[in-house]
Amino acid sequence: MGKGDDRAGAVRRTVYVVGGGVAGVLAAAAIARRSRDRVVILEQAETLGAGLTQGNGRSLTVTEGTIAAGLSAAQVAAALGRSVVAGGYGYPGFRATAAERAQMEGFAARSRQRLMDPAAVAARDRALLRFGVTSLHLWRQFAAARPLVAARTGLQLHPKLRLYGGDRGLERAEGEAQGVAEALDAVAPLENPCPGSALGGATVPAAIAAQMEPSLAAHLERFAGGISVQPGGAIHGARLVQELADALVAEGAVTIQTGATVRSLRWHRDAIAAIEGDWRSRRQVWGGPSDAYVFATGIDPLLATAGALAEPLFPLAGTSITLPVSGAIARLGIPFSRRSWKYDGLGPLVISSVFLPDDAYLDFLDSYDFRRFRPDDLALARTGLIDRTWGDRLDPAQFDPARLDPRRVEHFDPRAVGPAAGRWEIRIGGLKFYPGDRDPADLAHPGSRWAIAQQIQFARALFPDLMAQLIDPTLDPAIAPPDALAPLQPWGGSRPVYASGMAALGPFCSNGYAIVGTGSWGLTSGLANADAIAQWLDGTPTDAITLPGLTRSHWRDYRDRVRPPVAAVYP
Ligand SMILES: Cc1cc2nc3c(=O)[nH]c(=O)nc-3n(C[C@H](O)[C@H](O)[C@H](O)COP(=O)(O)OP(=O)(O)OC[C@H]3O[C@@H](n4cnc5c(N)ncnc54)[C@H](O)[C@@H]3O)c2cc1C
Repeated sequence: MGKGDDRAGAVRRTVYVVGGGVAGVLAAAAIARRSRDRVVILEQAETLGAGLTQGNGRSLTVTEGTIAAGLSAAQVAAALGRSVVAGGYGYPGFRATAAERAQMEGFAARSRQRLMDPAAVAARDRALLRFGVTSLHLWRQFAAARPLVAARTGLQLHPKLRLYGGDRGLERAEGEAQGVAEALDAVAPLENPCPGSALGGATVPAAIAAQMEPSLAAHLERFAGGISVQPGGAIHGARLVQELADALVAEGAVTIQTGATVRSLRWHRDAIAAIEGDWRSRRQVWGGPSDAYVFATGIDPLLATAGALAEPLFPLAGTSITLPVSGAIARLGIPFSRRSWKYDGLGPLVISSVFLPDDAYLDFLDSYDFRRFRPDDLALARTGLIDRTWGDRLDPAQFDPARLDPRRVEHFDPRAVGPAAGRWEIRIGGLKFYPGDRDPADLAHPGSRWAIAQQIQFARALFPDLMAQLIDPTLDPAIAPPDALAPLQPWGGSRPVYASGMAALGPFCSNGYAIVGTGSWGLTSGLANADAIAQWLDGTPTDAITLPGLTRSHWRDYRDRVRPPVAAVYP
């Protein structure tokens, strides 16, 4: 008997999840875990995670949401008229057409309606911070439930550095530190504290920061801005989507249809009667009125066209480059970031490192007798599985094998593994600019080209030796042909944002739900959004939804802010 049938043989409801990015796949997993519904993911691309999830910064940070949303109405209006170099959203040389000006003015006007009152903005930021802390806690639970998926997708959870440049850097760092500390206080009743909570919200001197991330030591010697530490981490979003989807299919929990594009919704009163589109060029109708539909379609206009969203999504473009660090490069002893951190100068820029272990390394961890481990064991050092300098600094009496094991995310220290254990990838993502009506995924877009050149220059300043291994050091990235930059996997795309800075999350009719507009933190907040949607779907009353660390009033605080962009009107 399949998951679609109950014991009496009656067919159960099917939940169609439209969109196989991080939001859709995490939602499908949460729904399958909580219910006996059949779950089907429909994805228009031939592979999952090929949209925004492919190119995002991979960063998990509790303050990501307030960065996404953190502008007041006056700041939004100013940013739209100012160049990126001066802290705005206009890339150098950008000239708006009349239609683009109208789109920007509409966005600024909607911000004014929502973000004028400073007390309301502060309350929103508190709600977002608590949601960020709760989200990290869920990542921690995820790693405990699926340790192998966590390891294969490079999940790390650790105290994370944020560097603030500029004259007011320290002031901002301290202000934010206080916000994070407040959010951590709010989740203090959690049975298991969040990773890094001991450091959450602290500002630290450069010397401590250099110890936390040795590859930054030279840079931090000259750094004059503020530095804060907060709970955070990183994960390879696209790999997560693939690994988790494979596991769900193998468990019989989810069915996946790729190459399936949903083009319209068929209505019956306040319910979706079916969804229509095509699968591999053939017309197709999915579902019926007693099924449920979750839309996790990123920046796609489907929901807005269907009249399901009260407010249009606004595109806030960004780009990324990826620095692959193979075992051969790691063997050269070149310094590179092994943990993630953020730089709020031009941008912000998000530097996310993930370690992707080889199967042979996991086998080694399972078979090696760590009771006889000695840091100066030459035979072990020669395998290249353990970092030599890490071994030198180790006190054998304090040694914990979990420090070497990426399946134990609470304890794993990526600085401990050697070049033969796997490979690293450093994703440098971020920058924000308004792309106008051209698609920033086209890397000939002048904004994308400019932003990628900035990220390459930044990477060269921080990791000159590593960058010299990857591309010709004499190359000018602003005019280089695309092939010359290919080793850095340049990428561009638009974050879908609302003027309120909040995502649309929740039901928009009796059997339709949305997770869209997640802006800069769809990955970070993905598990918490998915959990909430799964609870709505299983009939939990809206007020009774629970997420770890969020009291009822904190949940309501968040929920009341996210729901307004979802229209409760049916054609
Ligand atoms: C430069 C940049 C840096 C970022 N950095 C971070 C970060 O560090 N941390 C973080 O948390 N977030 C970050 N983000 C945001 C994050 O990437 C997104 O919030 C997240 O990936 C969104 O996931 P999603 O599943 O909602 O959207 P997507 O990944 O775009 O998935 C939507 C999917 O739906 C499919 N689809 C769309 N329409 C249809 C249709 N009609 N029928 C069928 N399928 C459809 C698409 O093909 C796509 O696969 C960043 C974003 C940018 C642009």
